[in-house]
Amino acid sequence: MLSKEKLAIHGGIPVRDAYLPYGTQWIDNEDINAVINVLNSDYLTTGPKIAEFEKEVANYTGAKYAVSFSNGTAALHGACFAAGIKEGDEVITTPMTFAASANCILYQGAKPIFADINPDNYNVSPKSIENLITKKTKAIIAVDFAGQPSDLDHILTIAQEHNLIVIEDAAHSLGATYKESKIGSRCDMTMFSFHPVKHITTGEGGMITTNDKEFRDRLIQFRNHGITRDRSRFKEEHGPWYYEMQLLGYNYRMTDFQAALGLSQLKKLDNFIKRRKEIASMYSKAFENIEQIRIPVNCKESQSSWHLYVIRLNQEKLTVNRKEIFEALVSENIGVNVHYIPVYYHPYYHEIGYKKGLCPNSEKLYEEIITLPLFPKMSEKDIFDVIKAVKKVISFYSND
Ligand SMILES: *Cc1c(COP(=O)(O)O)cnc(C)c1O
Repeated sequence: MLSKEKLAIHGGIPVRDAYLPYGTQWIDNEDINAVINVLNSDYLTTGPKIAEFEKEVANYTGAKYAVSFSNGTAALHGACFAAGIKEGDEVITTPMTFAASANCILYQGAKPIFADINPDNYNVSPKSIENLITKKTKAIIAVDFAGQPSDLDHILTIAQEHNLIVIEDAAHSLGATYKESKIGSRCDMTMFSFHPVKHITTGEGGMITTNDKEFRDRLIQFRNHGITRDRSRFKEEHGPWYYEMQLLGYNYRMTDFQAALGLSQLKKLDNFIKRRKEIASMYSKAFENIEQIRIPVNCKESQSSWHLYVIRLNQEKLTVNRKEIFEALVSENIGVNVHYIPVYYHPYYHEIGYKKGLCPNSEKLYEEIITLPLFPKMSEKDIFDVIKAVKKVISFYSND
């Protein structure tokens, strides 16, 4: 029946009147008041809310320390600095991520090495990491794709054997669990992002969690111009006004009103994740018997926090490719997206010497994926509209 309905792209009536975004924040009055209170206080930046937010994120994730940053990318840069990554080093990461996961390696003058993904859960494959380790390898940046934790213990074992630092890019996986424990305390450093499409937001914002005091100290110094006010670490002493800039840092500080927003949002995180899980299972239930679609799989040892819901098309069962399916869904007013364009496909990476063909599984995946809308504020109608639109478009272009 659905296949006889004309698609919006061919002049039919769209499933929705209004465009549904793929992700967006959920801000309520409590959040707004938290920000206003700080705006009326003495500290707009690096005040008491920063320390409080850091403490709460450390508590939530089970890490000893948390260090806030102006955004997740700055936090990754800080982690690369703290890890001692420098010119001449190689750092292994995945191409199925946002460019920031690899750009932070370039910021430190080191070389990103792209390891291919595991075709089951689209996370970096430990085996392909192992094959790329050289004498120059310094660290691994593992990304928890879509909220599904990477194969962390396997990666940590490899790292231990080769004396490498593991940085986890957990921009998607705040609140996810791996072997019963929350993401954020297993790797040397873990990065979270508070961009509006992520689980909780501070507008822009990021955090590194770690159990290592030395990493924490370096992160704090790095995000504030490389300055220290700790007299015990001074090289000289001039008087009470004196502070020292001891390394080349940046201004990567978060404001206090952002931290207040983060604190307020953090209280809602578990409910946000619960809702994301519900929506994901509604999608999976609706699509599990459609042979044109491969639904995301959940690994046994972990619980995804469902940042993204990514479907993979079975091209053999469709008359058109991903681009047409994508465009048809947009015409139905469904805000679809693609996560991700392999990082080394970008012209900048091409310019600095990366070529297509490096990671065949990632490249094949890229041709076949579509991200569906997923955010806690979605209504039941929104969810059913997405399901209806996907079924409509897929059955229209199905080749049986
Ligand atoms: C969002 C994101 C980042 C960067 O975070 P920002 O806060 O936007 O700088 C890094 N890695 C991944 C995988 C992300 O999704």
